[in-house]
Amino acid sequence: MERTFLMVKPDGVQRGLIGKIIARLEDKGFKMIAGKLVQVSEEQAKRHYAEHEGKDFYDNLVRFITSGPVFAMVWEGDDIIALSRILMGKTNVKEAQPGTIRGDYASHTPHNLIHGSDSPESSAREIANFFEAHELVKYDKTISPWT
Ligand code: ADP
Ligand code: MG
Repeated sequence: MERTFLMVKPDGVQRGLIGKIIARLEDKGFKMIAGKLVQVSEEQAKRHYAEHEGKDFYDNLVRFITSGPVFAMVWEGDDIIALSRILMGKTNVKEAQPGTIRGDYASHTPHNLIHGSDSPESSAREIANFFEAHELVKYDKTISPWT
C-alpha cells in the first residue's frame, strides 16, 4: 500500500472542480485519508516546488499556487503514485489525453488543475509540508476482494 500527496490547484477550486476530481479518485478505488482547504504561503509553495527552482516557469508557478486556496489531500492505494499520475494526465495540456483529469478539464498548461507526487520520496516530503501525522486518518474501507 502506497501513499501520495494530491492537490486540487487554485484553478480547480475556483472552477468548482474539487468534487469531480475527488470522484475520479474514488471511482478508481483509492482511499482518501486526509483532506483540507489551504491558503498556501509563499514559503510552503517554495518548499513544495523546490525541484523547479531556477526554471523559467518557477516564479509564475509559485504565484499561481499561492493565488487562492488549494484542496490538499493524502490518498492511499496499491501503486497509487504511478496510477494517480496516469489518471491526472500529462503535464502539458496539449498532450493530456481525453479520459484523464487534465485531458478532460484543463486547457492551459500551468493551470492543469491537479498536483500529484512523482515518487515515494517526494510523496513523503510533500505530505509533511501540508499535514501533521495526526491529520492522517486510519480507517477501513470496504472494497471487493477483486479491486
Ligand atoms: P507535474 O505537475 O505533472 O508533476 P512538473 O512537476 O514538471 O509537472 O511541473 C509542476 C507544474 O509546473 C506543472 O503541473 C505546471 O503547472 C507547471 N509547469 C510545468 N512545466 C511547465 C512549463 N513548461 N511551462 C509552464 N508551466 C509549467
Ligand atoms: Mg511534479
